Amino acid sequence: MKILALDIGGTAVKSGLFCDGQLTSFEEFPTQAHLGAAVMMKNILDYILDQAPDAVGISTSGQVDPTDGSIAFATDAMPGYTGFPVKQYIHEQTGLPVSVENDVNSAALGEAHFGAAKGIHHFLCLTIGTGIGGAIFINGKLYLGANGIAGEVGHMTTHLDGVPCNCGNRGCYEAYASTSALVRRAEQELGKKVTGRDLFAARAEANISKLFDRWADEIVAGLTSLTYSFNPQAIVLGGGMMSQPEIISLIREKYAQRVIPSFSRTELLSAALGNQAGIYGAYYSALELTGSPTDQTQ
Ligand SMILES: [Zn+2]
Repeated sequence: MKILALDIGGTAVKSGLFCDGQLTSFEEFPTQAHLGAAVMMKNILDYILDQAPDAVGISTSGQVDPTDGSIAFATDAMPGYTGFPVKQYIHEQTGLPVSVENDVNSAALGEAHFGAAKGIHHFLCLTIGTGIGGAIFINGKLYLGANGIAGEVGHMTTHLDGVPCNCGNRGCYEAYASTSALVRRAEQELGKKVTGRDLFAARAEANISKLFDRWADEIVAGLTSLTYSFNPQAIVLGGGMMSQPEIISLIREKYAQRVIPSFSRTELLSAALGNQAGIYGAYYSALELTGSPTDQTQ
């Protein structure tokens, strides 16, 4: 059984080929989203036909309509993608079983079945990067909500009358706790351009360490609220910074100080699959279409 898993992002498409449960090749190519959805999807279709798989699993940025695998909403970074019938198009052109899932949910599915949350039935997955994406697992299943878009934790209000967010509201969690928010605040205080990497390298300096401290407090404010809402066994934290053990330790320490003791058994875990989580999740979704999925890969 040959399953092709694709993770369509704004700048790159990641591709993983799974043969009999093993990831046998992984590559990336440019999405070229600026050419418009029709061209972009035609290129992806040609790539799929070239690989000749038995099934296709697609993870994609944007909101996915779970009823038909079309794109319910995508930002202007991917012109023409909103409304594109991804599942129908690929299925009709290839005749193959096709699954389509949003990228944050796919990453969570990957972590659930092959990564940090393997064997954990109640957990949340937060990806902290440019924004904050969230996915909710209840009883071992992804919880999609009434319209398939549950888990938008980045837009919970954590600061009434706070700074504007690109969703149109103010004071959203991601406007304070994303990696971009950390960088923005640092740039304001330092009066120069910096990257997350620069900040991490300079974390021992007193003023930078203070910025990390404040940022971790912002992250923990959201984590405790989510803990009280869901009482999860674990919260899996993904994104570049979250792969740094020191950052996870800082967040754990602050979380332990703040959370109500009866909720303190929730574990904070670093995501294990890095930038391949999405393709592992897409692989799992495609496997579900073709028969009985197992957790035996790797
Ligand atoms: Zn927002």
